[in-house]
Amino acid sequence: MATQTLREEVTTLLQELIRLNTVNPPGNETAAAELLRNYLEPFGVECELYSRVPERANLVARIRGRGDGPRLLLLSHTDTVLADPAEWTVDPWSGEIRDGQVWGRGALDMKGQVAASAVAIASLAREGFEPSGDLIFAATADEEVGDDPDYGLSWLCREHPDAVRCDFAVNEGAGDRVQVAGRPFYLCATAEKMSSPFVLRVHGRSGHASLPSIADNALVKAAGLIERIAAFQPERQLIPEVQAFLQAVCGSAPSPDRALEAARAIDPAAAKMVEPLLSMTVSPTMITASNKRNVIPALTEVTVDCRLLPGQTQKEAERAIRAQLGDGDYEIVWREGQGGTRSALDTALWGAAESFIAEAEPGARVAPICVAGFTDSHWLRDAFGTVAYGFFPVMKMDPELAARLVHSADERAEVDDLELGVRWLRHAALAIGSL
Ligand SMILES: [Zn+2]
Repeated sequence: MATQTLREEVTTLLQELIRLNTVNPPGNETAAAELLRNYLEPFGVECELYSRVPERANLVARIRGRGDGPRLLLLSHTDTVLADPAEWTVDPWSGEIRDGQVWGRGALDMKGQVAASAVAIASLAREGFEPSGDLIFAATADEEVGDDPDYGLSWLCREHPDAVRCDFAVNEGAGDRVQVAGRPFYLCATAEKMSSPFVLRVHGRSGHASLPSIADNALVKAAGLIERIAAFQPERQLIPEVQAFLQAVCGSAPSPDRALEAARAIDPAAAKMVEPLLSMTVSPTMITASNKRNVIPALTEVTVDCRLLPGQTQKEAERAIRAQLGDGDYEIVWREGQGGTRSALDTALWGAAESFIAEAEPGARVAPICVAGFTDSHWLRDAFGTVAYGFFPVMKMDPELAARLVHSADERAEVDDLELGVRWLRHAALAIGSL
């Protein structure tokens, strides 16, 4: 081991993790938790497995702090989405190396970061690193499904909060290198929209389909409402993350109405990033009506995928949606919202990301981004007020290719990026551990 470089170490560990099938469902993450424990313990890293059921363990590893300085958590999940071998060029669980890339399900989402986090904490332990507060590494189960019952980070925060309580966390979510107007930026996810679906229940009166005039067809009434949803242009707001992003790339932050134009003037890529973050989004996706061809439905239910800006409430959203739909025989029934949290931008962890990027690629900068989906970061922000960022810098792989490969065939990670990831996580640990 002593002669192995960190680059070789992270590559080998990722290959081993890929070779364990942790497709969720069913998950079987215990295999990954045990592999990581066996890797970490010989270096003196304290390891504990926490599991709701034996086959779905979470690993929590730590280097104890000297005192009660800030705790940093390196967070990742070991489960993956499924893979259909017929669609792949290689066996999705082979961990094969081709052209400097490690191939396999989970290479990007997110066994690469699991491996990099493990190598970062292992190498620091070998060097005798004594952080001011605990340095924690959690490789959790059940991120990709996370339903009720839950087995991963949400369960840990609820049942074993002392294991994962932290002031700062580095998670997945961003890190892509984007060129805006010819300048390189690394995106750091500091906030996320809230996934807040609702059902539009449209009422009518049933009747025999051969006599349409005696009934009141809820499906036909829903059609008009769906068109109004499609035409909805929710009010634009400039959230702090977009303001800081535009400030970084444009040098100034325009008004909410001019934000999209200003981004487009700088670079169409910037406009594409900013557009979904200027307002809530509302997309009808599913519908149910009559279950008989000859019966006019009395009720039609339209399921609408709705994403709110961080801080925006369902109540505010409903007011705007009702104003757009006008009066009618309908109700809006909200489903439970998830995500929608944010972390501050002027923090020591942000400083660490900036100093790392300045060193890794002089001239490049870090820019905050609010992600349209949500990650496990929101559990930490909700439970402990943690400053959690999604940041795993990717310098070599093209971000569009990476986005295409996640949850898809031929997923693979660049060895160069894995090595960069180890360097970043060590840098973050050293920076927070010296506060
Ligand atoms: Zn993931």
